[in-house]
Amino acid sequence: MFNKILIANRGEIACRVAATARRLGVKTVAVYSDADARARHVAACDEAVHIGGSAPKESYLQWERIIAAAQATGAQAIHPGYGFLSENEDFADACAKAGLVFIGPPSSAIEAMGLKAESKRLMEKAGVPLVPGYHGTDQDPALLQREADRIGYPALIKASAGGGGKGMRVVEKSEDFAAALASCQREARNSFGSDAVLIEKYVQRPRHIEIQVFGDAHGNCVYLFERDCSVQRRHQKVLEEAPAPGMTPELRQRMGEAAVAAAKAVNYVGAGTVEFIVEQPEGYDHPEAMRFYFMEMNTRLQVEHPVTEAITGLDLVEWQLRVAGGEPLPLQQHELRMTGHAIEARICAENPDNQFLPATGTLRVYRKPAHAAFARGAVRFDDGVREGDAISPFYDSMIAKLIVHGDTREQALARLDAALAETRIVGLATNVQFLRHVVGSESFAKARLDTALIPRESAVLFQQDRVGTPTAVAAAVAQTLLGERALEGADPFSRRDGFRSHGLTTRRFDFDVAGATLQAMLTYGRDGALTLALGDVQGPLLIEPLDDGRFDLQFAGRRDTVQTWVTGETVHVFTARGATSLVEIDLLAHAGEGEGEGGRLTAPMPGKVVSFAVKAGDAVKKGQALAVMEAMKMEHTIAAPADGTVAELLYAPGDQVAEGAELLTLAAAN
Ligand code: ADP
Ligand code: ADP
Ligand code: MG
Repeated sequence: MFNKILIANRGEIACRVAATARRLGVKTVAVYSDADARARHVAACDEAVHIGGSAPKESYLQWERIIAAAQATGAQAIHPGYGFLSENEDFADACAKAGLVFIGPPSSAIEAMGLKAESKRLMEKAGVPLVPGYHGTDQDPALLQREADRIGYPALIKASAGGGGKGMRVVEKSEDFAAALASCQREARNSFGSDAVLIEKYVQRPRHIEIQVFGDAHGNCVYLFERDCSVQRRHQKVLEEAPAPGMTPELRQRMGEAAVAAAKAVNYVGAGTVEFIVEQPEGYDHPEAMRFYFMEMNTRLQVEHPVTEAITGLDLVEWQLRVAGGEPLPLQQHELRMTGHAIEARICAENPDNQFLPATGTLRVYRKPAHAAFARGAVRFDDGVREGDAISPFYDSMIAKLIVHGDTREQALARLDAALAETRIVGLATNVQFLRHVVGSESFAKARLDTALIPRESAVLFQQDRVGTPTAVAAAVAQTLLGERALEGADPFSRRDGFRSHGLTTRRFDFDVAGATLQAMLTYGRDGALTLALGDVQGPLLIEPLDDGRFDLQFAGRRDTVQTWVTGETVHVFTARGATSLVEIDLLAHAGEGEGEGGRLTAPMPGKVVSFAVKAGDAVKKGQALAVMEAMKMEHTIAAPADGTVAELLYAPGDQVAEGAELLTLAAAN
């Protein structure tokens, strides 16, 4: 085993690797960028080396500096985590040249699996089933069109060098192919530096089922069962679980053996994942008809590896370190067992109600589920942030991973819902409530899984407020009253018999709830009794403070245990049912404020201007694309809010812009 390793990553995975290293008595070295100077992964390691600016290109992708840091600190090996340099064969080679062990597969295996088209050609030879498609080197658009027509529609165009759900286009009909190809190639060139594509049949009711494999340097290779990652948005995973619902022992063995064959074909060593797309031609209730096809191999530890750890009881990072140190695999195939059911939810800084647009901001409140409230080992929370940390535009939007384990899928689901209810984040948009709605949706609860689950269930997933306006307003009123009473309580001359009237008998509160202005009238009765009126809803308001800042609230026929936080004028309300927020309007402060912003077009988040689709003087129609921005590894199109004429472009392509920066001005059509 190594004495000291360097972790060439950040965030939750760097913390995760450091935890296992510490348990094994291995010292750790962190590397960090400017933005991460005070990050948790830096504190989680024994030593830390600053490697450059905040943008990944200036730090986490600077492999010379990372290798120099390893040499300067006497680390013997480098763990790349996932993303960044983890699938870069040149980095793996450079480590070897510098006398450092790369904790991952041989560079030849990374290279062989690096391009989707080439890896498919290899897999074809190894007898692994492939999705019908075209993965040749000839990239003549006319040939690609003919191939797509031959394969049939819907077809999928994929960037061969793609990853992270980027560089993919579903094409519904032949006439759409040429435009989709051009746009896919453009994105592929910008993101991956190569516009080579392959074409696949878009399979029916697709399920993403992947197999965790592990090889060692002694020629052994095993599979650690499957993970179902069918619940996706933008071709990216949202929930992952194991075992895959409906999986039979026979199919598991066939898929496992195909995955091992894939790994062996490239002399694989270490942790890897073979991703399959699974077709359900007979529908959800006929798992026996499922057909699987190789999609790609990820030659690294995967984000969702804790799901496999939960069902096998193994520590995959420990296996990685042992295998990289030359030890044989700790267990052979017949010794591997799985128990119970595990699910992981990716908690991300994003706005599900606005096309999952990534969000940035500060984690003003960051409360994790209380593990103690669950059975031992039932809830795991992997993260790399602390309350007060910023989610910056430089890196991935994933904040944390919540992993639950149960005896059955139903129990795991119930635990996931309860743990999500206890996950309370204020300061930026997150998908926590959205995840609860997915978990509670009929399709997910009944395991009717495919990659279209989110669009299919959209009616119960988006724009949901399970708290309800009456409770939210009552909670906001209650938190104001409790705050006032706390102030009075500090005054030795004040009375302490419940809520006081300040000489008023009624009091008016104004709120902005999802864009609508609401008025609530609070009436003080004798002995502190309160009545609240909100439109037609009127009744007693009961507030019972609990010792930890929470309070029990009863209004309009509902009782909730409520926790609130206030940021500026916004009151964030959390209950076991869900979370919501509303804005308390200070009538005096807003008197006389004007409406409307004119024709200004601003950046929705900090990022880089990629291109302008218009120039000054152009007439534009409402909804027309004006500019493209890139932020958090995604492209965002800025569209015209109304018909008009472009007055001025205020930035040039390549410029870095702040959130809210005006990108161009429009003169309204008259
Ligand atoms: P997984 O199945 O492990 O989530 P992904 O392909 O989604 O696999 O990527 C894993 C991690 O690597 C994610 O954090 C993702 O954002 C990051 N990642 C993937 N591709 C890239 C890329 N081209 N550049 C930077 N990060 C990437
Ligand atoms: P990435 O490198 O971005 O992870 P993948 O090839 O693994 O790219 O595909 C990502 C996702 O796209 C899959 O998990 C699946 O949801 C969808 N997908 C990929 N290939 C197909 C296909 N042939 N038919 C239907 N869906 C597909
Ligand atoms: Mg993939």
